[in-house]
This record gives sequence, C-alpha cells and structure tokens, in this order.
Amino acid sequence: MAPLDWIDAELAGLRQRDLLRELPAPFDLQTTTIEVAGRPLINFASNDYLGLAADPRLAAAAAEACHATGVGRGASPLVCGRSTIHAELERRLAEFEHAEAALLFPSGFAANAGIVPALADRGDAIFADAKNHASLIDGCRLSRAETHIYRHNDAAHLAELLATHAPQARRSLIATDTLFSMDGDVAPLVEIAALARRYDAMLLLDEAHATGVFGPHGRGLAEAASIEPDGAIRIGTMSKALGVAGGFVVGPQALVDYLANRARSYVFSTAQPASTAAAAIVALDVVVAEPQRRTQLLATAADLRERLQAAGWRTGDSASQIIPIEVGPAAEAVALSRRLRDAGFWVPAIRPPSVPPGESLLRLSLTANHTPAMIGALLAALGANHQDAKA
Ligand SMILES: *Cc1c(COP(=O)(O)O)cnc(C)c1O
Repeated sequence: MAPLDWIDAELAGLRQRDLLRELPAPFDLQTTTIEVAGRPLINFASNDYLGLAADPRLAAAAAEACHATGVGRGASPLVCGRSTIHAELERRLAEFEHAEAALLFPSGFAANAGIVPALADRGDAIFADAKNHASLIDGCRLSRAETHIYRHNDAAHLAELLATHAPQARRSLIATDTLFSMDGDVAPLVEIAALARRYDAMLLLDEAHATGVFGPHGRGLAEAASIEPDGAIRIGTMSKALGVAGGFVVGPQALVDYLANRARSYVFSTAQPASTAAAAIVALDVVVAEPQRRTQLLATAADLRERLQAAGWRTGDSASQIIPIEVGPAAEAVALSRRLRDAGFWVPAIRPPSVPPGESLLRLSLTANHTPAMIGALLAALGANHQDAKA
C-alpha cells in the first residue's frame, strides 16, 4: 500500500455517508446573482450581508491602494508589512468600535487561532460554547489551557462550570460567538458578561457575523446588549458584512501591544494586502453613512422567517439574517439543496462536521441586495413543508 492510499478510503467513507464536499464550479462576480456552470442562480449563500463585496466604491479604493503601495506586502506586519493604510484602518476600527486600539489579522480564523492561545496557557481555564466557530475551537486546542465546553447558549451551565473550575485556575477566559454562523441565533451576552465579572474572567466575543449588522451603530451584538466597550475583547472579520477580507481585534492598548508580541498568527503571517485594508476603510464609511442597509436587512430577515414558519419550515432559534431550514438527515438536506438549485437558487446544505450528525440544514443568508421579488420566488420554489406538518 502506498503511504497516501488511506485517503482514498477516507473519501469513499465520506461519500457513502453523504458527507463528501465537492468543490462547486468556481463563482466569479460576488453579486446576488451568480453563475454556476453557465446558469444564473440567485445566491442565498453569501455572508456579504450589506451587499458590499462588489461595491464599486470599495473596488476603486482597493485599486488605488494597489497602485500606490503594491499588490503584496512582502512580510509580516512587524517586519515591513504594515502600511500607512493598515495603520489608518486600525485607527478607524478602534474609533468605530469605541475601543482604545485595534489590531489587524490576515483573517478572522487567524485572529481566533492566534489570540486564544496568547490569552490562555497551562494552568488557565477556558469556558467555551459548544457551538463556537471552528477557529475558536482550534484556538482552544492550540492553547495549553483546560477547556470546559458549556451547552450551547446555556448561561446556567456556564455558571456551573465557572463555579467548579474557575477558582482553581490561574486565569479564566470565556469565549463565544455572538451570532452563531449556522443557526443564526444569538448568545445570551448580558448573562455571560455578568458571569465574567463575577468570576473575574476575561471575555472574548467573536462578532464575525454581527459586525456591521447589529447594534444601533452597527458595532455588533455587544453594542446591542449594551456591554461596555471595555467589558469584552471583541474579535471581528472584514470578510462578511464589510465585504472584504481580514480579521481584527479591538480592546485596550495594552492588550493590542501584547497580542502584537504573542499572537503567533499575527507575528508569523504576512500582512493582508493594503488594497483590502483600503477597501475595508470605505466599507466602514458605508456602515456609518448607510444604516438603512442593516435595518432593512434585519426587517427582511424577520419577515422571511415568519413566512417560512407559516409554510411549515423550522427555522430553529434564528434571530438574524442567517436563517437555517432544519432538515435532519444529510441526504435530505442535499436533496432539498439540489431541488432549489434546479429551480434557480443557490442555498447550500450544511452537513457534519459543520453541524452535529442528524442536524443537517439548509443555510439561507440574506443580504441587503436581495429584493422582495427574489425572496418571493425562493418561497414559491420551497413550497410548503408537508412532511413536517404531518409529523
Ligand atoms: C467566518 C468566521 C470566522 C473566520 O473569519 P474569516 O475572516 O472568514 O477567516 C471566525 N469566527 C466566526 C464566528 C465566523 O463565522
């Protein structure tokens, strides 16, 4: 047997369990209508919540930065990768988030994978939601701290675990997504922040799906829950509502100085291109100047959830622009996704390991560019869910 033969068996096993992911045909322009294998489909899969990924204002800023500073950065930020544009974006992010300072990371994944191990080490305790994003999970694995997983969104369980384990730990860290990426539901932030204070625990909030969408000023769910800006370390990404790419953290200056020394994904990874940083600055301007994008998006999402439920579809605890259609078996989710694709809609099936076995779903994500006509057509294509109505 050749050394890599086991991979064929692994792939065959995934295929047999309906879990094999095949790369879809490449998607080019990121707008509401995408072309898949020569056919236009209405895209309900993108995290470009505010409809900025193909905005010409962002593209113009990116092109200008490219011409002024080059395409690549050449090195990590501390070596020679951080440009004036990066510094300006950090200043703007801190200002937008009402924080003392901000630090850019190559991606949101890199931010989590680097920041958690920088904050927690041997002798420390991490308390993490069971449905945290893979990058937070990997951050916990990379740290040498004891990780205690609390039941999803269950503040009482978190309180129990804190009472048992926090007193023995050198330091404690609570880490949670604020808006969960597959179910579109929201963490009980007020309770969690109160527990963090009671146990003197650091609180790390991953606002990846909430930045630009929630909160009176679009800062995210911590803002919506009136958590003081210095009450939590907030991580975000510019790859979702901001329509660009790159992760960030905001918090006190000392935290940012420390992470610039200790977060390995910051120190040992090349800085993001100045073009994406320039585009992100324009995206922040849009978030501030055009609040109707987020208010309209959330109103449309509430309306769609209601209409889906009226048609017999289960949308779980979604309270956001991310709306799961709960199906169950992976094969059925794949079949429903295929049926929608044949009808002209791109709505991917989400299967294990992104969700637990038996909890496969279709993940609908709305953007500010979806029109009422597009949403009406999707509902018509889905029809009523008779199967569940009988059950
Ligand atoms: C998407 C996502 C990330 C990763 O962000 P990228 O910039 O895409 O790497 C991190 N956390 C959560 C909760 C996410 O949904």
